[in-house]
Amino acid sequence: MHRRYSQATLLLCAILTCSNLQAAAAVNTLSTTYEPAPGELQTIARQAQSGRVLEGWRAEIEQLNLQPPLTLRLIMRSCGEANAYYDSEAKSIVYCYEELLTAQATLSNHADKLSAEEVQLFAAGWRDSVFFHELGHALIDQLEIPMLGREEDVADQISTYIWVHREDSEAILNGTIYSFSEQDAEVDEETLADTHSLNAQRYYNVMCWVYGADPEGYKEAGEQLPDERREGCEYEYWQLENAIEQLLPEIFKGAE
Ligand SMILES: [Zn+2]
Repeated sequence: MHRRYSQATLLLCAILTCSNLQAAAAVNTLSTTYEPAPGELQTIARQAQSGRVLEGWRAEIEQLNLQPPLTLRLIMRSCGEANAYYDSEAKSIVYCYEELLTAQATLSNHADKLSAEEVQLFAAGWRDSVFFHELGHALIDQLEIPMLGREEDVADQISTYIWVHREDSEAILNGTIYSFSEQDAEVDEETLADTHSLNAQRYYNVMCWVYGADPEGYKEAGEQLPDERREGCEYEYWQLENAIEQLLPEIFKGAE
């Protein structure tokens, strides 16, 4: 949302040099690129492009009141593996076509209990939850958000905070559940030493935060949790919300 100023305010600014107001008027620098996809990924790439996925994400960012504004290239490309990442050097979020395909294939494997419509909805939810996580990394980097925990966990917190009260949150929640449940790798030394928490831990974290955000609305998420964890979830969500709203009060005040 862009701020609007009256003529009188702008005139006053011209005379007094209102640096704050001038800074607030700065805009994001966002671009979208769909790179060509190899044969087996062409269909999913075409679907993403015709569905204007990157343009939708750009619109999401534009709605945030970012100060300083973000410089971000949103890129879809083939990476040789299912993945998505924020590149701080290139100031880009790269979303791999393979990640879209994995979401689609994983959810299609559950076609016995999901309708065709749910497969599509949850695949889109998976896609968006991964994007919001990467956007979390971009915000942490470019807005220099201080952290006392691991960046990967903070990116999950920011992501959950962004979508938990949205109208499409059910689809994103289900997409998140399938993404964590299907990708849990063997717990070896490399996995334990990774910068990410284990998928199962990320799953329980998200369940706890969404339940804590709205225990009535997300009752089923709460039922996934052991009693001892569930009891503290409202407090956990409050901690998350409080930290984000103190650190980024301008950005997220209109996001919910
Ligand atoms: Zn991450």
